[in-house]
Amino acid sequence: MKAVRLTEWGREPALAELERPIPRGAEVLVRVEAAGLCQSDVHVIDAAEGALPYRPPFTLGHEVAGHVAALGPDAEGTAAGERVVVYGPWGCGNCTRCAAGRDNYCDRRGDLGWHGAGLGRDGGMTDYLLVPSARHLVPIGDLPATQAAPLSDAGLTSYHALSGVRHALGEGSVALVIGVGGLGHLAVQLVRATTPSRVLAVDIREEAVDLALRSGAHLGVPMGADTAKVLRAETGGVGVDAVLDFVGNEATFALAVDLLRPGGELAVVGSGGGRLTVRKPGFLPAGFRLSLPFWGTRPELAEVIALARAGSLHVETEQFALSAAPEAFGRLRQGRVRGRAVLLP
Ligand code: NAD
Ligand code: ZN
Ligand code: ZN
Repeated sequence: MKAVRLTEWGREPALAELERPIPRGAEVLVRVEAAGLCQSDVHVIDAAEGALPYRPPFTLGHEVAGHVAALGPDAEGTAAGERVVVYGPWGCGNCTRCAAGRDNYCDRRGDLGWHGAGLGRDGGMTDYLLVPSARHLVPIGDLPATQAAPLSDAGLTSYHALSGVRHALGEGSVALVIGVGGLGHLAVQLVRATTPSRVLAVDIREEAVDLALRSGAHLGVPMGADTAKVLRAETGGVGVDAVLDFVGNEATFALAVDLLRPGGELAVVGSGGGRLTVRKPGFLPAGFRLSLPFWGTRPELAEVIALARAGSLHVETEQFALSAAPEAFGRLRQGRVRGRAVLLP
């Protein structure tokens, strides 16, 4: 079978031929129908030696959907043919966090030697993915795999970030989404679907601003010198209740701090290398709260899939054959993907 492999830090991933794995013990073999590309894949490829607790070679792909092809002799909780999405942040499986389906905050995260499928362990940009346990599978029914795959990270991470700030997004509130790519366009839809909040969106790309509006944002503006002024005016001068930042650089932190209302929430999802200094007394708004959400929980993934099946979420995709992975990565690097790029093995 073909697989998109990272073989060396800093080197673009390439297609390789691998043996199809055989599930042992509680493992499940999933026939991959779709695998999404995430900006995090680019951060991983570009990582400096020693920056991550794992090393190449491994197959990329942490957003995966397909159907169960084969089960190990001890696997239970699924059956051959079941259509599933893969919950990607595989933890130790034994700690209290993992027991609650919160592998994203596994107590042994630092010692595992991987962050999940396609992140230190072989992932889903291939024909068949070996999943350690059926507990990492969430049924999707007849949801298309090209929709389900991106929901397992772009959807789930946005949903989890929003869960942490939802208490600030009651009646009459305003949310700001910064960066309307794979994650951000789903975040806009999730804020609309699960809160009464007004949604503002910002991106440096015009077509991403258009995507924000099509995703349900009340206002979309290009990132520029007067963005803070334009957005503040839009809130009647008081500022926004919560910012979901899918970029995370100096410019977006400055925008968030400028716009947050006292008691405001900043959830930083993007790994854009920005720094935020906390100083007392200082310039952060009174009551400022910061969260650094990572991925999401398995129960949340089931909720995201349910929202999509009910028609509340639609992933904008650009689809590529698995063999066109290098082209898809090229477009992602150039910032030319609208919504999510998805590979079809
Ligand atoms: P993406 O490339 O699909 O989207 C990023 C968007 O941000 C693009 O539309 C881009 O035009 C826009 N952008 C870039 N710089 C900007 C700026 N200065 N101001 C405004 N907009 C700007 O990326 P993605 O796959 O959606 O991922 C977004 C970020 O989230 C990445 O840093 C990724 O690594 C991170 N991420 C984090 C988690 C987590 O668990 N915390 C999970 C997945 C992805
Ligand atoms: Zn990701
Ligand atoms: Zn654990």
